[in-house]
Amino acid sequence: MRVRRRHLLLLPALVWGAGQKSVRGKLIEGRKLVVAGQVVTLDGEEAVLKVLDDERLWGSDFEVVGEDSGQGHLRIDGIHTKPLWIYVKGERLGVSYWCEICYIRTYSPGKCWCCQEETKFDPKDPNTPDRKP
Ligand SMILES: [Zn+2]
Repeated sequence: MRVRRRHLLLLPALVWGAGQKSVRGKLIEGRKLVVAGQVVTLDGEEAVLKVLDDERLWGSDFEVVGEDSGQGHLRIDGIHTKPLWIYVKGERLGVSYWCEICYIRTYSPGKCWCCQEETKFDPKDPNTPDRKP
């Protein structure tokens, strides 16, 4: 039987919910993103908020994926969906953190769960493999 490929093309539109969007702007202190002069207030789970509170990222060209909750508020998707991006010299990189000692990557700032040293901010192209010891 012939597979009707045309139907497969409809799938992404269904997965992408109505209020779902990706917003790019400048991340500022207080969990806010300035998009074309408008301030969008960001919310999300704890692991996401930790990233927004990371002062190393304030002032950066930033992108978040989440759900528009109205009145200039956006709820960012769960950290496991990798909803946080940063533009470094025009390149879109995933926000992530790296422990130089254990070679462990995490997606939220703080101490390495293995050695308890502070992890380093290390934005990364998700298609590039991690460094090996
Ligand atoms: Zn470590």
